[in-house]
Amino acid sequence: MRKIEMTTPLVEMDGDEMTRILWAMIKEKLILPYVDLKTEYYDLSLHSRNDTDDQITVDAALATKKYGVAVKCATITPNKQRMKEYPELKKEWPSPNGTIRAILDGTTFRTPIIVKNIEPAVKNWKKPITVARHAYGDVYKAADMRTEEGGTATLRFMGNSGKITEVPVATTSGPALFQGMHNTEASVTGFARACFQFAVDTGQDLWFSTKDTISKTYDGTFKEIFEREFEAYRERFRELGIEYFYTLIDDAVARVIRSEGGMIWALKNYDGDVMSDMISTAFGSLAMMTSVLVSPEGKYEYEAAHGTVTRHYYRYLRGEETSTNPVATIFAWTGALRKRGELDNLPRLVGFANSLERACLDTIEAGQMTGDLAALAVGEKKVLSSSQFMDAIAAHLEYS
Ligand code: NAP
Ligand code: MG
Repeated sequence: MRKIEMTTPLVEMDGDEMTRILWAMIKEKLILPYVDLKTEYYDLSLHSRNDTDDQITVDAALATKKYGVAVKCATITPNKQRMKEYPELKKEWPSPNGTIRAILDGTTFRTPIIVKNIEPAVKNWKKPITVARHAYGDVYKAADMRTEEGGTATLRFMGNSGKITEVPVATTSGPALFQGMHNTEASVTGFARACFQFAVDTGQDLWFSTKDTISKTYDGTFKEIFEREFEAYRERFRELGIEYFYTLIDDAVARVIRSEGGMIWALKNYDGDVMSDMISTAFGSLAMMTSVLVSPEGKYEYEAAHGTVTRHYYRYLRGEETSTNPVATIFAWTGALRKRGELDNLPRLVGFANSLERACLDTIEAGQMTGDLAALAVGEKKVLSSSQFMDAIAAHLEYS
C-alpha cells in the first residue's frame, strides 16, 4: 500500500521517561508503516531543555504558532527532588506546558476516551464530557495575608493615570485571613474565544458556569465577556445545531451528573482544576484522558493528560517489560494528524487517524489491554505489555 502523504509538517515535541519510550514505539509500530510522516522535531526532554537553557521549549511553541498543529509527549517539570536526581540541571526549569500555554495564550480541553467495557461511575454518561479550564489568574496568582490583630482591609487600585479606586473588604475584630486575586479581560476573552472555537471544531454544545449570583462583578464579568464573544459565533452555532448555555455552577454540577455527556464544560481556573479531576476519575483512568491546547487564533497542541509515568520507567530501566497504557499518547498523535489532514485537505490522513483510534478501542473492547485498564474493565480481559498491546492494535488496524 502506498503510504499516506502529508504536506505540512507536524510540530513534534518529544519528552521524558516512560512516555518517551512509548513515543518511539508508537511511531515505529503504528504510524511510520502507514504514513510518510513529516514532522519538525523538537526534543523537549529535560536534558535538551537544560542544554539549550529552555530555548528549545520556546522554539517549539513558536513553531506551533507558525505551522498550527503540534503533538507533545509528557515531560518532567523539575522540582526539588528532580534537582537531586539530575545534579547537572542548571536550574529548576519551568513547566514546558506552562511556557507553551503562555506563548500560545491557549486553553486546555481534556476529554476522556470511552470504551464499552469500562463503565463510567455515573451510569447515564454515554458520551465524553470535555472540561475546558481557564488556566490564568484567580487564586493561582493571588496575594495572601494573615493578620494578627483586628483592623480594616481595603482593595486599592492605582491606574497608570494616577487615578485611585478603593473598596472596603472587611473590618475584623481579631486575627483574620485575606486574599487578593485578579484576572484580565484579555485573558478571559481569549478563553471565551478558544471555547467557542473548539465547540465549532468538534460540533458540541458549550456550557459555561460561574457563581455570578454571589460574585456579581468578578464572575459577572466572565459571564458578560462570554456573552459578548458569543455574538461572533452565534450564526456558526445555529448552522451546526449546537448551543451555548450559561448556568450557575451549582446548577451545572447537578445537570452534568444527570446528563448523558457530549458537551464541553468551560470553567474558571479553580473550578476547572477540581472538576477535571472528578470527571476523569469518574470516566475511569487518567491514562485514558486526552488533552488539547487551543489558542484563540486556532492553533492546536495535542497531548496525553498524564505525566511521564516515572514508576514504570524505573521498572523499564531495570529491564522489566511494563504494561504502560499508550492510548492517550496515541490519541494525541491521531488528534494532531486528523487536524493536519483537515487543514491541508488530506482525507486519507483524516481517515487513517480515525481508523487508528477505532483500532485502539476495538483492541480494548476485544479484551486485550494494559494492566491499568484490566483493573477497571468488565468481561474477559488479557493483560498485555505496552509492546504487545501496540502489536495488537496494529493487527486490528490491518483487518479494518
Ligand atoms: P503520572 O506520570 O501521570 O503517573 C502517576 C501514576 O498514574 C503512575 O505511577 C501510574 O500508576 C498511573 N499512570 C499514569 N499514566 C499511566 C499510563 N499511561 N499507563 C499506566 N498507568 C499510568 O504522574 P506523576 O507520577 O505525578 O508525574 C511524573 C512526572 O510527569 C513528573 O515529573 C511530572 O512533572 C510530569 N508530568 C507531566 C505532565 C505533562 O507533560 N503534561 C503532566 C503531569 C505530570 P501506577 O504506578 O500505580 O501504575
Ligand atoms: Mg487538579
